[in-house]
Amino acid sequence: MKPDLFQHPDYYLLDDLLSEEHKIVRNTTREWVKRELSPIIEEYAQKSEFPKQIIKGLADIGAFGPYIPTEYGGAGLDQISYGLIMQEIERGDSGIRSTASVQSSLVMYPIWKFGTEEQRKKYLPKLASGELIGCFGLTEPNHGSDPGSMNTHFKDMGDYLLLNGAKMWISNAPFADIAVVWAKDESGRIHGLIVERGMEGFSTPETHNKWSLRASATGELIFDNVKIPKENILPGRSGLGAAMYCLDSARYGIAWGAIGAAMDCYDTALRYAKERIQFDKPIAATQLQQKKLAEMITEITKAQLLTWRLGVLRNEEKATSAQISMAKRNNVAMALQIARDARQILGAMGISGEYSIMRHSMNLESVITYEGTHDIHLLITGADITGIPAFK
Ligand SMILES: Cc1cc2nc3c(=O)[nH]c(=O)nc-3n(C[C@H](O)[C@H](O)[C@H](O)COP(=O)(O)OP(=O)(O)OC[C@H]3O[C@@H](n4cnc5c(N)ncnc54)[C@H](O)[C@@H]3O)c2cc1C
Repeated sequence: MKPDLFQHPDYYLLDDLLSEEHKIVRNTTREWVKRELSPIIEEYAQKSEFPKQIIKGLADIGAFGPYIPTEYGGAGLDQISYGLIMQEIERGDSGIRSTASVQSSLVMYPIWKFGTEEQRKKYLPKLASGELIGCFGLTEPNHGSDPGSMNTHFKDMGDYLLLNGAKMWISNAPFADIAVVWAKDESGRIHGLIVERGMEGFSTPETHNKWSLRASATGELIFDNVKIPKENILPGRSGLGAAMYCLDSARYGIAWGAIGAAMDCYDTALRYAKERIQFDKPIAATQLQQKKLAEMITEITKAQLLTWRLGVLRNEEKATSAQISMAKRNNVAMALQIARDARQILGAMGISGEYSIMRHSMNLESVITYEGTHDIHLLITGADITGIPAFK
């Protein structure tokens, strides 16, 4: 792969809106990505393997639980810093950002928000340091966009809970030490349970043959009469809303992350267009390629503004789920379009692993589907503005 020459576009001087702490966090993450991730990511994506050796580095830059309080091992940062970390990691690769998102927002966050003090102390510091890796089991083979209809269920057996069912398309599953699993009790109420690797009847087969998020490990979670200690239930909140609350946090991170992927594609295409000579002039001198590049920077700038504002609202605890849906949907679609246009600017080189663009493009095909599909997020906006849910 080519050396990482990334320079971040900031057309509307948005850095002026960031604090010194935000810039330090952003720059630390960016330097780590350039030093530790960029040199290896193409090889791991090509061989379809998660590079486990980067787990400690991710923990060191605060990517596991950026906003979790320091007393539990988190970095204690605000929502803008969290967003900037996700942006920079996804600038490197969406699959690696997925691992950090799941660990922070879908495993640490529910334990922090809905767990007991004992659960927080037991799991959060080890998750923050990367000693433990977690995954989040919501999607099932027959229930994706409609997780409320899930089949996975548990019975109260007096001394323990007996869990049965299966989850599919679970990021980090093949090597996760713990899983936050959403399952129904006998009355049909959904609860979060902490399932630990090694519990009898619990297995995590890997999902192969992915053309997308190849550097992220995906798998199933299978529960065959798994005995779960009662103290592993998350008691603070139940119902599908509890899982959705976690997804809000992850989707917010994705809205930032997608900008990172888009910025990397734009930056690569701009540099290439200025260097690549055809018909005795740089292709950047042609109106057609300028149109693509000008539209890219316009869309990136709009997404940056949207996401920065959303971060301010999150810091003030005012952001709604529907606002997060709008940003996730807009920014991922924007990034995917930019990846496709950037690939064309590079001509044949655009499909080569020498450059990051094709990998970003393939990764974003998952990002536009997971954590709520592009269509479902549109329907969430529709329901929010009309008061009429069209997807139920
Ligand atoms: C690489 C990867 C990693 C993932 N990681 C995780 C994870 O860690 N944990 C987890 O729980 N899940 C994970 N997922 C699953 C992901 O969240 C689901 O794939 C997603 O929610 C969509 O579900 P589905 O694939 O079953 O699609 P479906 O729900 O079957 O949807 C198929 C199509 O129908 C559309 N559709 C569905 N309902 C409606 C409707 N009412 N109106 C109009 N259109 C509709 C959808 O928009 C979509 O286009 C991951 C997925 C991928 C690809």
